[in-house]
Amino acid sequence: MTLLADVAEIVARSHDLDETLRNVVDLVAKRLDADVCSVYLTSVDLRHLTLSATKGLNPESVGRVTLPFGEGLVGLAAELREPIVIEHAREHPKFRYFPETGEERFESLMAVPLIVRGVPIGVLAVQTRAPRSFPPRDVQSFQTCAQLIAPVVMNARLLAIVDQSEEERERLGTQLAVSGIPMRGRVPLSRERQTEFRGSATARGIAIGPIYVLPTPLDLAELEYTPSTDASREEHDLLAALHEARSELDDTREDVDSRFGPDFAAVFQTHIQILEDKGFVAKLSAEVQQTRNALLALRNVLGAYRRTFEGIEDPYFRERADDVEDVGRRVMERLLGVRHRLEPMPEGSIVVADNILPGHFARLEIEKIAAIVSEHGGPTSHGAIFARTLEIPAVTGVVGIQAAVRPGEIAIVDGGDGHIHLSPDERLITEYRRAQQRYAVAIQHLDALRERPGETRDGHRISLTANVGLVSDLRLIEQHGADGIGLFRTELLVLARRGFPEEEEQAQLYTQVAQALAPRPVTIRTLDVGGDKDLAGLTDHAEENPQLGCRSIRLSLEHEGVFRAQIRAILRASASCNVRLLLPMISALSELRTARRLVEESKADLERAGIPFARALPIGIMIEVPSAALIADTLARECDFFSIGTNDLTQYTLAVDRGNERVSHLYDPLHPAVLALIDRSVRAAASAGIPISLCGEMASNPLAVPLLVGLGIEELSCAPSAVPVVKEIVHALDYSDAAADARRARQAGSAAEVQAIGAARLRQVGLIDHSDIGPWLRPIIEAAGG
Ligand code: PEP
Ligand code: MG
Repeated sequence: MTLLADVAEIVARSHDLDETLRNVVDLVAKRLDADVCSVYLTSVDLRHLTLSATKGLNPESVGRVTLPFGEGLVGLAAELREPIVIEHAREHPKFRYFPETGEERFESLMAVPLIVRGVPIGVLAVQTRAPRSFPPRDVQSFQTCAQLIAPVVMNARLLAIVDQSEEERERLGTQLAVSGIPMRGRVPLSRERQTEFRGSATARGIAIGPIYVLPTPLDLAELEYTPSTDASREEHDLLAALHEARSELDDTREDVDSRFGPDFAAVFQTHIQILEDKGFVAKLSAEVQQTRNALLALRNVLGAYRRTFEGIEDPYFRERADDVEDVGRRVMERLLGVRHRLEPMPEGSIVVADNILPGHFARLEIEKIAAIVSEHGGPTSHGAIFARTLEIPAVTGVVGIQAAVRPGEIAIVDGGDGHIHLSPDERLITEYRRAQQRYAVAIQHLDALRERPGETRDGHRISLTANVGLVSDLRLIEQHGADGIGLFRTELLVLARRGFPEEEEQAQLYTQVAQALAPRPVTIRTLDVGGDKDLAGLTDHAEENPQLGCRSIRLSLEHEGVFRAQIRAILRASASCNVRLLLPMISALSELRTARRLVEESKADLERAGIPFARALPIGIMIEVPSAALIADTLARECDFFSIGTNDLTQYTLAVDRGNERVSHLYDPLHPAVLALIDRSVRAAASAGIPISLCGEMASNPLAVPLLVGLGIEELSCAPSAVPVVKEIVHALDYSDAAADARRARQAGSAAEVQAIGAARLRQVGLIDHSDIGPWLRPIIEAAGG
């Protein structure tokens, strides 16, 4: 206690960073009775640490000893953002000593990172000559010391900016911006452009291609526009722009229809209808005559439409307001001759966007996209999941990428490790091309084995199914050999066509999918919009906490008509027998009961109408909210199967928004708390005798697979392309070993420990040397300490 109070006191009186750090290391060394206490601070690139103050090491080495993140035990603490506590440091494979510090004499080490807003900015370390095991109490107070110092370091750097040369200011500005700390005032941009970036690895695969910056839509409200002085000229130009927009939309619609089918093309059909609407065109003409200003005319007419549509109760009409707005923008772009916005995307483009949104997949020319990179968002946002499903390599949360890229320049994106290189040299391109080829060959090898069942070495069967969202995904299921569909996300269809299809259309679609897969099971999930899956007209944009708001099953129960139509459509498809109905985000028994009642009523309707359906259609629920896991035994008595949605379960258990990159370092489905809830759900399912699957992204996390198998999950459902990889891991495992791992993981105190257990198993079964997946697994296993 006194140590912390004294550090707090030093910190409170701090007016000179060097002096403060010196005082802190003196004090900590004395109070913890350590031979050494040092502080290492990050350099501008945030990837290196420099010894900045020490008590006990050679004082001459301050400012001279520098080590990269991940190197040595100190570098490891920064890389992992976790304390490293080691009794015999020299025996650790990461141990590295710097002769200039005289460090080789020390045996034990405790190092904790200094973290500001999730970004490591330094490391505080103590070392002792005699071996010492630091008790958890010491580790905790040492961590608190680091927390006290971290803001002082950051503030000192901020204040120092005032006194810096312009060059130094630029560098500090970049560093602070990278740390998520907004700068007041203008910090000039660095003259030397950053060309290497790292974000969150989101969808595996390597792409090399030209950058295509996703244009931010024109904001008609903000736009400045100078009209011509002649009203009829203004009208002529506006109508010509309208015409151009119309014929371009026609082309796009045809194109999209032939490539992705009518679901996607429907968006464009709606837009064409608006442009062809006589009333719309007449109103525009009248307005432009009156205002003598095309922009004003567009704004006025669009405003009137928007108000009218928004006043309509029915969500199908309300969402037309957004379409009108989109169309208006398109016309204005033509009028302004903003040709670059209309340039078709080059083949093999690397799309750079603010965020990856599900809607992008409906609007972009998907087959031309080689990779997607986004400044914001995380690997488990829905847009990211869609990228994975469509097998488009993706990296998210890449700070500064939008400002740095130049449209058309060549870039390399490695979706497997999150690296991005802008304008790379030939050597790098050749290196990545080789890796690309290796990747393609590996996938081919694995796909060739698609007929093998998912089974452990000792014959324990694990069903490996796919998560899909579009009819066009069906070919991926065949290609990669999935045992069925573990999760059909119906919302992608709805988002793509920007409206909910009629019951008839849905029934046809679900039947088509079920028949294509028969006799393999097809699990159709009812609409799961809201949260980050925004659906105009149904979801409420004004919700303060959309992830905790009216999303998913809550929304379906609120819009009973839409929900009934979907249930009936699923029932109709169930006549093919292999269909299961899955209810998302159940958080209370009452929701399950209400949904079941609606299913029963829908069955009665169909029966009356003489329409066939499977009377015993299995009705399952997703366990993706902690409350559901906690009452899993009660829920299991009233449903036919469980499917664990770990993407949301992790988000809600750890209170970490799955789409927020600022907290993505806290998001880990291998957190012991999440494992505890999975375990509880598995047990509840087993005692009720119902099947249980897991369909979150965790299902394809290599470190998680041994543990999930060991916990008793019977079905893993993941992106189609991940199925062969997961199958390969399952094949290498022994069920009894996996069960033992799972038991140990349940006792673990941190996600890092759990990861290490998974990693150790993958190494032990030889997967690290696997000729196809070894090269991907090796860095994952090594980073997890296995
Ligand atoms: C999940 O939450 O794990 C899940 C599979 O559902 P979604 O990612 O669509 O929310
Ligand atoms: Mg979910």
